[in-house]
Amino acid sequence: MTPDEFRTYGKQVVDWIADYRGGIENHPVRAKVRPGEIRAGLPAHPPDRGEPFDRLLADLDERILPGVTHWQHPDFFAYFPANATGPSILGDLLSSGLGVQGMVWATSPACTELETVVVDWLAELLGLPPGFRTDGPGGGVIQDSASSAALVAVLAALHRVSGGTVGDEGISRRYTIYVTSETHSALEKAGRITGIGARNVRVVDVDPSTLAMDPAHLAALLEADTAAGAVPALVCATIGTTSTTAIDPVAAIGEVCQAHEVWLHVDAAYAGVAAVCPELRWINEGVAEYVDSYATNPHKWLLTNHDCTVLWVTDRAPLIGALSILPEFLRNPATESGAVIDYRDWQIPLGRRFRALKLWAVLRWYGAEGLRAHIRSGIELAGGFAALVAADDRFELHEPRHFGLVCFRPKWTDERIMALLERLNESGELYLSHTRVHGRVTLRFAVGSTSTTAQHVRDAWAAITAAVAQAGPR
Ligand code: PLP
Repeated sequence: MTPDEFRTYGKQVVDWIADYRGGIENHPVRAKVRPGEIRAGLPAHPPDRGEPFDRLLADLDERILPGVTHWQHPDFFAYFPANATGPSILGDLLSSGLGVQGMVWATSPACTELETVVVDWLAELLGLPPGFRTDGPGGGVIQDSASSAALVAVLAALHRVSGGTVGDEGISRRYTIYVTSETHSALEKAGRITGIGARNVRVVDVDPSTLAMDPAHLAALLEADTAAGAVPALVCATIGTTSTTAIDPVAAIGEVCQAHEVWLHVDAAYAGVAAVCPELRWINEGVAEYVDSYATNPHKWLLTNHDCTVLWVTDRAPLIGALSILPEFLRNPATESGAVIDYRDWQIPLGRRFRALKLWAVLRWYGAEGLRAHIRSGIELAGGFAALVAADDRFELHEPRHFGLVCFRPKWTDERIMALLERLNESGELYLSHTRVHGRVTLRFAVGSTSTTAQHVRDAWAAITAAVAQAGPR
């Protein structure tokens, strides 16, 4: 493709995206296709000869779009948002256009240095402790996902607790990590990947009313495990659990971790970005005093398209100790001078995209005020929905409620609620999801798209209550 062809088709693609986004409400929120339908509509073999790009765009409309679920739709309430805003898409396009592979500082200095700037900016915007800034022993790095962030945190914790022996000798002792029933499954996955083993991912009790970790039970488990010869490596506290946005008491957990010298990781994948609003900074109470690593996802609620998780550590030495290997082909004077950051040593893969560009674009386009307005609007809309639920005695509302997620259920059997959910989602008018709270099916209504208005929320409630009324009492 020549630069001129690129210009022609590039304009068509940008127009296509703008038209799609402008008319997104014409699509059913959830794709209405059967398993295998999209694949069956596509050629089984690749073309022998190259084809004009507009043929691809035509197939996108006819063959692909019917199988797309529209995450940017204003009536998408199923999962935490995955905002892909204009500036983030354009920032990502610039990253693709530059085609930089920033594995080490020397392979594209700006890729590394812009990343350092934006992760430091984000730490400042969220009011995170100065210890997370790159000018001290700590620092931040962009990862592809909160799951990867959890994995590298576990590796860094294992490095620290084993005095570096795990990397050389493998797992030779019984290392344990601590989660709750509400912790994201990424932690169990990290336990499996690192060789700690799912059996050694210990489940701490939660307070039944808040679903937050019980620090007293954590202390008891740590004591019992240590007495039995285990080596506790990491505790994961969550700020905003996936199921209900419960908030673990980081300060109280931190005290326990400090007493036992255990790494404390905070998974704030969804809710951490809410701290851009000063009135919500209370969610990070205890982070400055006790936390070793902290991850949040601008690619969820902070208007940045996939993939963009920021992980901060207060001490980068164990992270780099766990992940740094220097083969001959990567040796270069800048690395050897010790004056630069090589982010390949802060992540699992070697190669890395110029992801800082899209976060930079978002932070500059919206500014702190724009980011705060977005978070506040999601919380306000969710509050409006919760008020509607609370005023209708056919429903139960799960509380405490935080952020942009509302968990609620009609006072029905699980089976009937699941049938209701399927009927609503099948309608294409809106998309919800479900979880289980205390074993009972509960619906999840997550607000967070930039296009969702109070009218969309009212319409969604009308659709839900109409379906409930239609089902009738039983
Ligand atoms: N942690 C929490 C609390 C989450 O809610 C999620 C996803 O919703 C994750 C981790 C996983 O995020 P990722 O897809 O970035 O791995």
